[in-house]
Amino acid sequence: MPFIFMNAVGMQRDVETLLHEAGHAFHSLAAREEDIYHYQHAPIEFCEVASMSMELLGGEFLEVFYADDDAARARRTHLEGVVGTLTWIATIDAFQHWLYTHPGHTREERRSAWLEIANRFGGETDWSEHEEVRSFLWHRQLHIFLYPFYYIEYGIAQLGALQVWLNSKRDKVKALADYKRALALGGSRPLPELFATAGCPFDFSSRTVRPLMEMIEQELESLERQAAT
Ligand SMILES: [Zn+2]
Repeated sequence: MPFIFMNAVGMQRDVETLLHEAGHAFHSLAAREEDIYHYQHAPIEFCEVASMSMELLGGEFLEVFYADDDAARARRTHLEGVVGTLTWIATIDAFQHWLYTHPGHTREERRSAWLEIANRFGGETDWSEHEEVRSFLWHRQLHIFLYPFYYIEYGIAQLGALQVWLNSKRDKVKALADYKRALALGGSRPLPELFATAGCPFDFSSRTVRPLMEMIEQELESLERQAAT
């Protein structure tokens, strides 16, 4: 039986966490009939599809928790977070590739490599008077210190979850059935097959990413229109 362990302190983040962890819980319930124990657990890239999909699918029912205005605000915060995280993941991944292909680099070289990569993926924030902090912002990501190269997984999973959500906007019944079927496979199939069963091509080119970002853009625009009326 899955159990959710979480802290709740009365913030929007609690709601996101509850939905997220519920996705993991559904996953273990769906796969628990699998005979081979090690096949009950999917690779992390797909585990997080289960959970992040639930954030997006469940996010459509936030009125259970909130009054209308707050629900819209919570959706906006969540979607902005999704986009921001993708660029942060790209930044961290590119930086790790640089680190390991430049052994013997100096601190100065590392600082300028970081800043160059940070500009490449998100040069739009004004950091003036805080440049020194920005130069070491990578300290924030523990994966660099403890789990080398283990961060891109979250990006792979988020792009899967966004595809599940996009599918649900076209055909909710089918998207949910595919999602549940994929969860029930546990880890008994290779990753691309788990994605395919969930209705997501295992492809991370602009062909996949562009429609997902367009969906988020439209969603944010409609939230803004709602707020204006
Ligand atoms: Zn998770």
